[in-house]
Amino acid sequence: MSTIAFFGLGNMGSGMAANLVKAGHTVRAYDLSSEAVEHAEKAGCIATSSTKHALDGADVVVTMLPAGKHVKSIYFGADGIIENVQDGALLIDSSTIDVDSAREVIEAAEAKGLNMVDAPVSGGVAAAAAGTLTFMVGGSKSAFAKASIYLEAMGKNIFHAGEAGNGQVAKVCNNMLLGISMIGTCEAFALAEKLGLDAQTFFDISSTASGQNWSMTSYCPAPGPVSSAPSNRDYKPGFSAAMMLKDLRLAQQAAGAADASTPLGAHAEELYTKLETANKDDLDFSGIMKLIRGEL
Ligand code: NAD
Repeated sequence: MSTIAFFGLGNMGSGMAANLVKAGHTVRAYDLSSEAVEHAEKAGCIATSSTKHALDGADVVVTMLPAGKHVKSIYFGADGIIENVQDGALLIDSSTIDVDSAREVIEAAEAKGLNMVDAPVSGGVAAAAAGTLTFMVGGSKSAFAKASIYLEAMGKNIFHAGEAGNGQVAKVCNNMLLGISMIGTCEAFALAEKLGLDAQTFFDISSTASGQNWSMTSYCPAPGPVSSAPSNRDYKPGFSAAMMLKDLRLAQQAAGAADASTPLGAHAEELYTKLETANKDDLDFSGIMKLIRGEL
């Protein structure tokens, strides 16, 4: 069993760290929030008071932080993970961050002889707590092989997406597609309704016809047809519009850097920005239905 330094015990990280404890590992928890550390301690983690303290005796590191700037700040510098972790350690960053930052950190880690993967996740807080996350992993084959045992303790589906940063590529491309398909689904339901076709009838037809997609069949943005969908609880998240906008912005950043044409991705970002401007980005991302219906 390993000693794991775990950084970022927020909504997602707290459940993930608890699952590593359940798998028999020693987990040394550090977060800027003392409340988050206390919560982790209750789940069986060892509370620590600094980055260096958390790294004491750790042969594995997991980070689950908000954005690229947080990841860079904790990995780099004299007090950072790369400088202070023990030789030969395995580093796993599961935060959703921009592709360039992910590649920059992994390159620096490899230059010090460390193994590192980017391993962002799909699945929300419930999947993190249940250990059923999907991991999309970028990095060398050997680093992926070493990381698998820890990822399996936190998730159900583990994919090697290829070279460093490719986990983030898979994540932002998937979520860009999800944002676009959600908006398209909202438009279709809103138009059907205006033309006199009720949501359930349209769902029954389209969910077995060529318009069928996940946003419709598992997460229908029109109230009624899918009882578990956030549309039936006034769009309480779920996966918030703010998190969708974060991922759409990362996709646009990556598209700009790669000179890729993503006109619908760009438009999806604009529409979710309108939800943010209206202070409604705490709604579930399917709450974009309110914007499409002209209710905001
Ligand atoms: P969160 O804000 O709840 O947790 C992040 C934690 O990191 C906070 O507790 C914060 O105090 C801590 N932190 C920040 N900087 C730190 C530092 N330098 N050292 C130690 N701790 C630090 O966020 P979350 O919802 O858990 O999301 C984490 C990541 O997972 C994000 O990148 C997010 O995009 C991604 N993600 C979230 C979800 C979701 O449903 N919440 C789903 C998929 C992916």
